Amino acid sequence: MRDTIVTLGLTSIFLLSGCVTTDQGQRIVGEKATDKASTAAMLELESAKAEDTIRRSGDRIIDPNLERYVQTIAEASAGDFGEEINVYLLQAPVFNAFMMPNGTMGVYSGLLLRAETEDELALVLGHEFGHYYEKHVEERFAAANNANILFAATGYSLIGLIVAGAEISSFSRSQESEADKIGAEILPGTGYDSAVAIRLWDNLEAEKKASSIRAVRKRGSSIFDTHPTSLERLDTLKTLVGVEGPLPEPSAEKREAYRAIIRPYLLTWLEDEIGRRDAGSTLHLLDRLDAVPGDEGTLLYARARVIDRALSNKRLKKDKLTRKLMETYSPETVIELLEASTSNADAPAQAHRELGNRLYKAGRHTEASRAFQVYLDQNPAAKDAALIKSLMLKSEGSS
Ligand SMILES: [Zn+2]
Repeated sequence: MRDTIVTLGLTSIFLLSGCVTTDQGQRIVGEKATDKASTAAMLELESAKAEDTIRRSGDRIIDPNLERYVQTIAEASAGDFGEEINVYLLQAPVFNAFMMPNGTMGVYSGLLLRAETEDELALVLGHEFGHYYEKHVEERFAAANNANILFAATGYSLIGLIVAGAEISSFSRSQESEADKIGAEILPGTGYDSAVAIRLWDNLEAEKKASSIRAVRKRGSSIFDTHPTSLERLDTLKTLVGVEGPLPEPSAEKREAYRAIIRPYLLTWLEDEIGRRDAGSTLHLLDRLDAVPGDEGTLLYARARVIDRALSNKRLKKDKLTRKLMETYSPETVIELLEASTSNADAPAQAHRELGNRLYKAGRHTEASRAFQVYLDQNPAAKDAALIKSLMLKSEGSS
């Protein structure tokens, strides 16, 4: 999770280091951005630079269809101000989104993966629009008295602030509530169902509690976890949209329609999640993703990978909650999950390879060869083809 964000940060620092002299020449460190106009002008300049960094970022997801899809939702959730928004998609397994004073909106893949319906995504984007509409970034900078100090702390860039998850994204409690209110109020006029949408916060809270990392269980891992907490936010939103008691479930149609949009990325984004090494959180996410049929091969493969990695992760073993979670799992579970995965048409080629590896290690050489063969058939140009073939030869020799 951190790696991807750091890449984005380093990219921006790298880009900025090229023009640091002129930057500092224009804006003397310590100079006071006292009047509103100069703060606004500076934020405009910084926004344009940050947007440029995002546009060129290696973490940007460039997919006209997906970009247009999210752009359309963002525009709808911004009511009359839709055309001011310019959406960029970023690949990182975090539940985050942000909006800059020039209308640039960043949406992370970790959020796209966690939304279960378009309504949920619209609610978050509407919340981000709320910050933009209420000019919260501008307020933060004006309140900082000397905006240059804020920039200096983060490598003279707005993107630095976003990457650091600092300041721009750490709005005050009242600013967060204001953004929630705007997001929830615009939604009904857009055809989205706000009662269904707020389940997202419920899910986020439950995932946080399921995390294998104690600090995440306590404080969460998303900028949305800070002010107010997801629980308080959920309560406020329930009142705002007039829901009492349990939240309504979204229809299967809504869930399936949304899954169809993100399906091409499901495996890639899940690989990113697995890289976070938070078995509890990822298994919780997988349970939710299981609710929509059609991705069994991919989801079972991801589950096998998460469990496999957690079984050998010493740090996770130290965590009581995770130890309990892993009690029922063994290397045999991993084989069973991979076998179940590969019996589905959507199983990725890697599932066959992993199954081959596990079976080989377990001494089940004939079955291993069969799984390897399917992998090579599906992926003839695989980089590891020679290695796999040598394992197959060994298997045949020993069986
Ligand atoms: Zn917010």
